[in-house]
Amino acid sequence: MAEYDVIVIGAGPGGYVCAIRCAQLGLKTAVVEGRETLGGTCLNVGCIPSKALLHATHELHEAEHNFATMGLKVEKPEVDWAQMQSYKQDVVNGNTGGIEFLFKKNKITWLKGWGSIPEAGKVKVGDEVHEAKSIIIASGSVPASLPGVEVDEETIVTSTGALSLKDKPKSMVVIGAGVIGLELGSVYARLGAEVTVVEYLDVVTPGMDAEVQRQFQRMLKKQGLNFVMGAAVQSAKAEGGKARVSYKLRKDDSEHEIEAETVLVATGRKPYTEGLGLDTLGVKLTDRGQVEVDAHWQTSVPGIYAIGDCIAGPMLAHKAEDEGMAVAEVCAGKHGHVNYDVIPGVIYTHPEVSNVGATEESLKEAGRKYKVGKFSFMGNARAKAIFAAEGFVKILADAETDRILGAHIIGPAAGDLIHEICVAMEFGAAAQDLALTCHAHPTYSEAVREAALACGDGPIHS
Ligand code: FAD
Repeated sequence: MAEYDVIVIGAGPGGYVCAIRCAQLGLKTAVVEGRETLGGTCLNVGCIPSKALLHATHELHEAEHNFATMGLKVEKPEVDWAQMQSYKQDVVNGNTGGIEFLFKKNKITWLKGWGSIPEAGKVKVGDEVHEAKSIIIASGSVPASLPGVEVDEETIVTSTGALSLKDKPKSMVVIGAGVIGLELGSVYARLGAEVTVVEYLDVVTPGMDAEVQRQFQRMLKKQGLNFVMGAAVQSAKAEGGKARVSYKLRKDDSEHEIEAETVLVATGRKPYTEGLGLDTLGVKLTDRGQVEVDAHWQTSVPGIYAIGDCIAGPMLAHKAEDEGMAVAEVCAGKHGHVNYDVIPGVIYTHPEVSNVGATEESLKEAGRKYKVGKFSFMGNARAKAIFAAEGFVKILADAETDRILGAHIIGPAAGDLIHEICVAMEFGAAAQDLALTCHAHPTYSEAVREAALACGDGPIHS
């Protein structure tokens, strides 16, 4: 008899959530994790530390820009960088420790070390080989590299280095205008750095609704971020505590150079499967290095599954978690399901940006007839009270059936507001269903209702 029903490799949001659900379903479960702490990229060097820094620097921004208007008199706030780092680390420790507690509570064994799969049904950690009926690969991802750019995690850093800089830089070049680059770019801009974002494409946050992209970039510019768009970075080199980034503008091939104290390379992440022995096992990978899985997250080798950032799909913690829960159900002989059409995306800048489902661009491409219900936060009393009335809610609904197909929000608490629309979409709701639902006043969520009203007879407050 196998020692475990399930061994999960990797304790990120995919792996740890999967393990907890497996244990809840009565499966004897172990998790292999090579880091010193549980929680993976997300809790240690991703979602959580970045949100702590975003929160702290947002408070700084409020104190500097809005306190006086509200009649709050404080001395000019100063940044104690070491204390901000220690606050961030406390937040991380609290969360990673929380997962360790949940493992104990659910009787999940943590096999400490780096694991490999010598054959189906077996996982090797150090010198020990453990047996399991099912193996789940949840090994996550690492930052992608860029040719010509030499990362030293001090002057030229990935997001991991950017979360733990020795000091706050006076200038920063961010390579890549994706979610991670813009979130961390915002953090350092609020801390007083001259931040320049260099992006290959002509738009920020590729794949998002074009109207949101434009408004978002405008708002970030107002906050002091500089943008060089359509620029192909050729190299970045550190010398004497500074770094030089050279890039070519795609429109005319002209060559340029820019210097900064810190360069953040934020050009995406790639699946991490090194050391697992997938090659020898015959586990197939896609040409992008993702583990190939079927509709039940099983790889090309029976009994071995994969979830999270190491397979295809959006590299998001909640997507990994959903797959973790679903594959646990599969291992327990039940049915697991993830609705990939309703996975929200959030950018935690100020204002926040969120989206779910179709964009106008994707609907046009599919030739689908749709209507747009849009409402500006200018008509939302609560947003005005907190100086956050820029931005809007936009709901896309089927032109004939009124069924909600997607939504895009830029404004206060956008990352929370999107979930009312996610739930509506899961229930196959029409925009009118949202419009007829009573929303408390004064809340930001009234803007969602107004956008739903705008899909029909029109909003009230615009
Ligand atoms: P990971 O979290 O990467 O975990 C994989 C774990 O597996 C790691 O701990 C690794 O040590 C371990 N591992 C790998 N191989 C082995 C092995 N052979 N043996 C033992 N252990 C192994 N997503 C969001 O949804 N919201 C956000 O706000 C957000 N912010 C982010 C901010 C930053 C700066 C970054 C970098 C990422 C952010 N993400 C965010 C993305 C999110 O962190 C990932 O999508 C998520 O962590 C993926 O989870 P995972 O379980 O697939 O893998």
